[in-house]
Formats: sequence, structure tokens, C-alpha cells
Amino acid sequence: MTSYTQPCRMSEMAITVLAAELVSKIAAGEVVERPASVVKELVENALDAGATRVEITTEGGGVALVRVADDGRGIPAAEVELAFRRYATSKISSLEDLGRIVSLGFRGEALPSIVAVADVELWTAAGSDGAGTYLRLAKGRVLKREPCARPRGTTLTVRGLFRHLPARLKFLKSSHTENGHIANLVSQYALAFPGVCFSLTCDGHSSLQTSGRGDLRDAVREVYGPEVAQAMVQVHSGDGDIKVEGLVGPPSMERSSRRHVSFFVNTRSVRSALLLRATEQAYAGLLRQGRYPIVVAHVIVPADQVDVNVHPTKAELRFSQEQSVFVTVEQAIRAALGQTPLPGPKVVGFASSPADQQTMWMVSERQPTASNPAASSSLPVLRVLGQLSQTYIIAEGPEGLYLIDQHAAHERVVYERILDQWSGRHMEVQGLLQPISVELAPREQKLLEELEERLRQFGFHFEPFGDRSYLLRAIPAALAGTNGADALRSVLEDLDRSRRDVPWEESIAISLACHGAVRAGQVLAHEEMKGLIQQLESAREPRTCPHGRPTMIHLSSRQLEREFGRVG
Ligand code: ADP
Ligand code: MG
Repeated sequence: MTSYTQPCRMSEMAITVLAAELVSKIAAGEVVERPASVVKELVENALDAGATRVEITTEGGGVALVRVADDGRGIPAAEVELAFRRYATSKISSLEDLGRIVSLGFRGEALPSIVAVADVELWTAAGSDGAGTYLRLAKGRVLKREPCARPRGTTLTVRGLFRHLPARLKFLKSSHTENGHIANLVSQYALAFPGVCFSLTCDGHSSLQTSGRGDLRDAVREVYGPEVAQAMVQVHSGDGDIKVEGLVGPPSMERSSRRHVSFFVNTRSVRSALLLRATEQAYAGLLRQGRYPIVVAHVIVPADQVDVNVHPTKAELRFSQEQSVFVTVEQAIRAALGQTPLPGPKVVGFASSPADQQTMWMVSERQPTASNPAASSSLPVLRVLGQLSQTYIIAEGPEGLYLIDQHAAHERVVYERILDQWSGRHMEVQGLLQPISVELAPREQKLLEELEERLRQFGFHFEPFGDRSYLLRAIPAALAGTNGADALRSVLEDLDRSRRDVPWEESIAISLACHGAVRAGQVLAHEEMKGLIQQLESAREPRTCPHGRPTMIHLSSRQLEREFGRVG
């Protein structure tokens, strides 16, 4: 019998009420998970206070310092200490208020949670006479209070986050990663509040600056760059209770994660499976599998038809009229996409030439060779018959019919080629005659900085070109003929999301292959199909794409005979 030590689950201690300080740290854990949570709470307080300018500064990924300064309504001197008491809020006062929340905060938990896990200083003034209050707190207690001079508004600094909670500190990622989370978060507020001027400075570098002019397209330009802003299509819908306003990207501007799908319900940034499904349905058939659109949409719903009090960090919510919200959003996006060209109708095309009809697979010169035994064992020589739905190649072999997914098959071929080049230490690079300028979102820029060396090794050559812009001078040869800027973004996204158990070289190869491969919906000439099938025959694992999906469906001669009732 194998003996093992079981983790101790049974408490030996008698039941006691936990000390107040411990309780406040446990409660704080719900609100303050990482530095970005501090930024979130402070920015929301600034916005709730009606600020038109919000300046955010961080150091050391937000662990050493988070500072948020606003020009909002400030906290009156008499209420300053109260703001740090648990469940103290100026935003709701009754049970009815809870049913129609219009502010971002309402639980009165953020400030007490932050002071439980960091050192805090506050400068605030509620009037325009220049008279304000200064407060310093640590370990949840006020250490100093004195008058200070400042214009109306509030500045809060949070230092030494989780200094007294080493367990939490251990779980934080590198300051690059934490800065990435912060940049992403602030970008969302910039899109949610185009009328507010945001600035984010991380370790002395300006990461985001918005004009606050009030135009959503401006905000999109500031966050995602001019190319995206220009291509986005306006969404406008709803005369009833539920309205949708915003911008959506054309299907050609796809991304490899849902991160660029932003929904704001009554200005609150939310994750909502319902809204994602509505978006997916609106784009159904327009995007490749595993690709997502860029969406920045504001959903306006009467405050009493939405419950925001269902999630500890208020990231999720519940609609009382789910069906109406779904339909309104889906139809609004569909209508907007109607303005952009949709792919043509799917047709069945058999492109084989009469000459080809004569060439039987048996006499093909592409016989498996001794130098490539894998080819003979894994895939027989195939003869291309035609293309179906601009997506599948129809081919015949000695053992029946093959339907080959052109994208998946090409992905497999490109993937193996890239890995071969990598192991042979000779990456093929395509220099660009005309360098491409790439505008990156703050989060993408952080990723680029983090992954720069790896990208270079694989053939991306770029140099900084002003604020968050880069000049792309060369790309991996596997991407020749594609939009290098989009490819770079996809690779960044894919690497960020790749599974930890997959080596990074493989993740890059998978991502490049996916981007460099022909797409579904692309008409292929007969020669192109022949070339692709030839390459697939020589692949080491021709039957699956690098993501593990099948590249082909095989209907054996026996199966065909059975289906047609030729044999019993
Ligand atoms: P909540 O936002 O849920 O009310 P908080 O703990 O975040 O709870 O803040 C407590 C209170 O402090 C707020 O209700 C608000 O009155 C005041 N407050 C906090 N930050 C600011 C700010 N930047 N400007 C004005 N008032 C603020
Ligand atoms: Mg708050």
C-alpha cells in the first residue's frame, strides 16, 4: 500500500472571532487582487466625482507606486476620515438606490481595502478656495492629518502594495506584465469615457494620453491607432429603452483574442457572455475560426433593468431583459456591418482542367521517395479535383476521396517549414521595400517590449518611431504577402495567450503559420492547390494542423461503396 501524507484539513483550534486587522485584510483580498485593481478603484472614484482629467502614474508595475490625480468634486474636510471606513459611501443611501445604480462605485469598500494592504496619502479639496486636507494612513490607521493647499480635486498615492502580505506579493507577475494589465484597464476607461482626458505614465514613460474631446472615434484612435479608428464602422441603434452606440471593426480587421471586444453598459466596462454571444452571432461566417473582431460599444439600459451587484469587482452584471439586449446588440452590429463588403456567396467550383483529368494519381511524378519515407507512410499521393466553397480542396487518392481544409493544410506546411528553419538556425526573412508603420495599443506595446528579442530572432525587424509607433522593416518570410502589421499584432496576442506547457518557439511558429496560411474563402488556382497538396504530402504530420484540428476528411472507397449501396 502506498502511504502518503494528507494535507491537514482539520483545525485543531477552537472557534474564535478573527482580529479586526486580519478580517480587513481578508476582505481587502476580494477587492485588491493586483496593482491594476488599485488603479481601477481610484479611477472609478475620480470618474464618480465628475472628473474631466484623470492622471495616473505608476512605478514598479504599480507595486511601488500608484498615483491617481483628478479634478473632480473632492472630499469635504469633515468627511475625509470617513471615506476610509468600511461601507462608507456617498453614492447610495437606501435599498431602492441599490436597484438603480448610476455610479461606478457604491459599496464603500475600495478605500478601506486599499489602506489595509498599502500605505496611502491623500490630498483633497472640495471647494475652489484652495483649502484642502492632507491625510497619511498605514496599516489601516490615520498617521497624520493636516490642512494643505490645492485646487479642487483629489490626489491619492498608494505605495508598497502588499508589503505586509508576502503571500500576495509572491503571486504578482513581472512589472512589465502588471503594467500591461494597468495599460489595458486604463485603455478601457478611455474608451468608456471619451469626454475625459486620461494620461497614464508607467515608470516615467507616457503610455497613454487621450484628448477627452468627447468623440469615441478619437478615443479609439488614441488607444488602437489611426488605422483601426479609420476603418471602424459606426453602430447606432435603438429608439426604445435599450440603445447601442459605438464602433465596430470590419471583418478584415480581425484579432486573435476577445481582448478587443469592449462593451460598456451605462459606461461600466463589463465581461458579459450574453454580449459576446450577440457579437459572435452578428459576425457569424465573416471571421475565421478563433478570430475576433474589434468592437467598442456602449449599451445604454435603464438603471433599474440591470443588476451590477452580482460580482465582487463588478466586472459582470445581469440584465432583466436579456432577450431584448441580445437582439438589439446583434441587430445593431449586423446593420453596421452591412455597410462593409461581405464575402461573396459560397459556390461549389471544380477547377480541374481536362489535361489534369488524364493524369492519374498512379503515374504522378510525385511518388514518395526513399529520402522521405514519412510521406509514404502518412499520406498517399493525391490528385486534385477541384475546390469546394472556396475553402476545401477535393482530391482523390488510391484509397478514395479526400476533402482537405486549405487553411489548416497550409498552416501545417508553413508551421513545419518555420520549425525546420529555426532548428537549422536559418530563418528566412522578407525585407520590406517600403517600411510599414505600426501603431500599437498600450498593452500591445508592453508585450512588444517584453518579447522583442524573440520576435527579432524569428525575423521581425522593427524600430521605435515616436509614441507607441514602430517602423516594421522586415518580416518572417512565411508572412510574405500578408499585412505585416496585423501579423505582428496577432503574434503578440497569441504569445501572450499561449499555453505555458508549449515552448515559445512553437507558439511563435503556430502563430506565424496561422497568419501566413491561405484563408478559407480564398479562390485557389489549380496549380496552387496542386502545389499545396504536394507540400502537404511531404509534411511530417499532414493529417492535423498545428492546433491539433484535422486537415482533412477521408472517405474511403469502401465507405463510398457502402453509402451508395454497392456492397452490403
Ligand atoms: P465607493 O466608491 O464605493 O463609494 P470608496 O471606498 O471607493 O467607496 O470611496 C468612499 C467614498 O470616498 C466615496 O463614496 C466618495 O464619497 C469618496 N471619494 C473617494 N475617492 C474620491 C475622489 N477621487 N473624489 C471625490 N470623492 C472621493
Ligand atoms: Mg469607489
